[in-house]
Amino acid sequence: MALERTFSIIKPDATRRNLTGAINATIEKAGLRIVAQKRILLTRAQAETFYGVHKERPFFGELVDFMISEPIVVQVLEGENAVAAYREVMGATNPANAAEGTIRKEFALSVGENSAHGSDSLENAQIEIAQFFAGNEIVG
Ligand code: UDP
Repeated sequence: MALERTFSIIKPDATRRNLTGAINATIEKAGLRIVAQKRILLTRAQAETFYGVHKERPFFGELVDFMISEPIVVQVLEGENAVAAYREVMGATNPANAAEGTIRKEFALSVGENSAHGSDSLENAQIEIAQFFAGNEIVG
């Protein structure tokens, strides 16, 4: 087991419905510690960079529009195997396929408006954390 940090976003559909606290409770109940957190409004350029890997996909424009439509909450989560652990807590991308008790099963509206982002690898976690947090903003 390894102590890891992963990057998380509480997406606009969730902040709009006042679900930040409920999602944070799910995160903390799962044993992950929120070691950095801030509420921000993404710029279009930031959203395009963040989801750059998907820029050729048909849903890219809609995804960027959604991600800048309302504030988001960006977080760093720390815990044993945090990257994989948070992917499990979030559930499948499409809430229709997400397991009971996961964030996406409980809260997501659709495959696009799916309430949460979590890094998919330790390498991407480090890149994503550095996009939004200075080292001294993360207090473990
Ligand atoms: N997405 C979408 N339509 C799709 C697939 C993905 O709108 O058919 C959005 C959705 O918000 C998802 C994000 O694009 O969370 C990134 O997709 P990815 O496949 O990386 O899923 P994730 O890692 O977020 O589960």
